Amino acid sequence: MRQAILRGPRALDLIEVPVPIPGSGEVVVRVRAALTCGTDLKTYRQGHPRLPFGPFGHEAAGDVEYVGEGVQGVSPGDPVVFTPTAACLECGPCRRGHENLCERLFDAIALGAYGDLILLPARVTSRHLFAKPQTLSYIEAAFLEPLACVLHGWNRVGATSGHPVAVVGMGSIGLLHVREASRRGLEVIAVGRRPAALALAERAGARYVVNMTQTDAGQALRALTGEGPEVLVECTGSVDVWRAAPSWVAPGGRVLLFGGLPKGSTPGFDATRLHYGEVDLINTFHYRTGDVREALALLGSGAIRPAEFITDVRPLGDIRQVFDDLDRGIGVKYAILPDGNQWR
Ligand SMILES: [Zn+2]
Ligand SMILES: [Zn+2]
Repeated sequence: MRQAILRGPRALDLIEVPVPIPGSGEVVVRVRAALTCGTDLKTYRQGHPRLPFGPFGHEAAGDVEYVGEGVQGVSPGDPVVFTPTAACLECGPCRRGHENLCERLFDAIALGAYGDLILLPARVTSRHLFAKPQTLSYIEAAFLEPLACVLHGWNRVGATSGHPVAVVGMGSIGLLHVREASRRGLEVIAVGRRPAALALAERAGARYVVNMTQTDAGQALRALTGEGPEVLVECTGSVDVWRAAPSWVAPGGRVLLFGGLPKGSTPGFDATRLHYGEVDLINTFHYRTGDVREALALLGSGAIRPAEFITDVRPLGDIRQVFDDLDRGIGVKYAILPDGNQWR
């Protein structure tokens, strides 16, 4: 089988490897569609604090190929979708209900979605492997993990008063945030840099778009809302936007910090703004089982149809070219299909 291996920053190879054999509780899935993601691009460029180099890619859907001993509920040939991690439910954070902060989350992660087959660890198989809803293409189903992360963020934000919200950074995650906020009936302002991505944001439900290369984002947000949005979702992972965001929301507003910064970053915040403006900084990381189930339901019902965010569909053999393009800012999110697959 073919497997994309990331050996180090910008060193990506597609090689032949032995077919994986599932151990007890494990499942091997034949990948029908895998998706590129911002986390992959970050790892490709500079490595990742939590993810090792090696088999590459983590968002996928496919058909069960082999089933290990003791696995119940799935059989070879079943169309499935999964998320790459599942919590241990035993460590300190898990026992306190913070499964997304599980100490063992990345000990057993399903990596290698850019390949013909992927091995799912036992924890993932037992908790985060689901039948693919028949209404979904493999590409749409593969949005399960990023959508679960986005929903976790909105579950952290909680109820809003219905005032406008802003999403800053129009990668695929920003676009999913726009879609989710608009599904919640909120008026959304999308802030980004690339006209093509801002056009997608409008299609995803943004009422207004702001191109921050042409105008001051804070001023534009005040012009559209008066005092600023009630909630601002930071999806750029840029220290400058982290620092500025509290001054862009309305007094009493909330900033959801979604885009992670490189290790050791120390963004300075204006304490007067935070304290006397009562601006809350809300952090969000990864997802819990409840978020995954919510994401599966939203995808399955058609409430969120993310296929429109796909820049292009490419064969696995193009994987190096795809990451070279992403690295140069070409495209938002690609679907990678092993050769010869139908994508619907
Ligand atoms: Zn991802
Ligand atoms: Zn745990």
